Amino acid sequence: MGSDVNPFESLQEQIDEAAQYLDVDEGTLERLKNPERILETNLAVEMDDGSTEVFRAYRSQFNGDRGPYKGGIRYHPGVSRAEVKALSGWMAYKTATVGVPLGGGKGGIVIDPDDYSEDELERITRAFATELTPIIGEDRDVPAPDVNTGQREMNWIKDTYETLENTTEPGVITGKDISSGGSEGRVEATGRSTVIAAREAFDYLGEDVADATVAVQGYGNAGWISAKLVDEMGADVVAVSDSSGGVYSEDGLDPVAAKDHKRETGSVAGFHGADEAVSNDELLQLDVDLLIPAALENAIDEEIAEGVQADVISEAANGPITPKGDDVLEEKDVIIVPDILANAGGVTVSYFEWVQNRQRFYWSEERVNEELEEIVVEQFDTLVDAYEERDLPSMRVAAYVVAIRRVLDAAEQAGTWP
Ligand code: GLU
Repeated sequence: MGSDVNPFESLQEQIDEAAQYLDVDEGTLERLKNPERILETNLAVEMDDGSTEVFRAYRSQFNGDRGPYKGGIRYHPGVSRAEVKALSGWMAYKTATVGVPLGGGKGGIVIDPDDYSEDELERITRAFATELTPIIGEDRDVPAPDVNTGQREMNWIKDTYETLENTTEPGVITGKDISSGGSEGRVEATGRSTVIAAREAFDYLGEDVADATVAVQGYGNAGWISAKLVDEMGADVVAVSDSSGGVYSEDGLDPVAAKDHKRETGSVAGFHGADEAVSNDELLQLDVDLLIPAALENAIDEEIAEGVQADVISEAANGPITPKGDDVLEEKDVIIVPDILANAGGVTVSYFEWVQNRQRFYWSEERVNEELEEIVVEQFDTLVDAYEERDLPSMRVAAYVVAIRRVLDAAEQAGTWP
């Protein structure tokens, strides 16, 4: 499954394509395409059996023109320098697309967390937090969850930072547990924006998402919440998958029961509430109206794209379509709501969490969801306006044109120094 396209090259191609529609000189373009700095560190951590193991970890701070670097920390064996650089760039243009006053960053540890005990994971996380402490902070760089990390890891990082700095600073990290200063609605936020964006895309086509059949690839936080919320909107989720395989039912399946099955067995594969098994590649090419890729980068390359039958794709994952895959889908007139808008609910509610932390004043879930909805709908309309008025080739190009302009405006105001 997936292709081995270098995600950092994909990011740079996306920026180059959008830059054709903007007046950007070569030096500025170079700056827009590369991280400002990267921390690469080797964490030596004691294992439960007394041995020592070394884990490679990264934090890329891509762009801080619009505010503190912002973005998640991923635990995955596939983490690499190129991947973290790409993901940090996508964050910089994501925060700009939704217009929240933050920059872009991303981190990761090369690890399969399933192979380690909870105690080991805590020591590994605290070792990374110790390396991060000098370069993070609520006004400097604010990490968050990503693939295979969640509230537990964020709470450990916050505690390590606060202990080392002898302070309380909950806004140093977002995606925390509510009792540690987390925000209502943060856990659901990525899936929520993915389906709001999908609903807007169907609306744009003169259709109703409630009539759509949906396939969801990936059943982590973003995938499963997207499936649950789109089902609540009245759509039929007909297929879901994770890295171990997927299931399909022509008449729809129950996303919550599928999640329960995954919780019990480790995978949605074999879920008894569905009719048949499907592979990830088959799922991506099913005859559905809406496709939600919610796993990793490069899931849809040009070969898979040839077989895609959906009318709308809403990207819950970061970078799930390769640039060549994009070209094929553009030819087929598939409407793609790009990751930097579709999944931006996560960082948008992270922004709300950071605001609440700084004010030490907490919002209701209703307020969080309302303000999130307002931002996603408004920015979807901004992208559609740019797409139509400037006759841009895709919604992705429209998003980059809008986002790069916003980053450039901030950079130009700041000037170049020294
Ligand atoms: N990891 C999420 C993303 O890729 C959330 C980042 C954040 O909340 O800072 O957008």
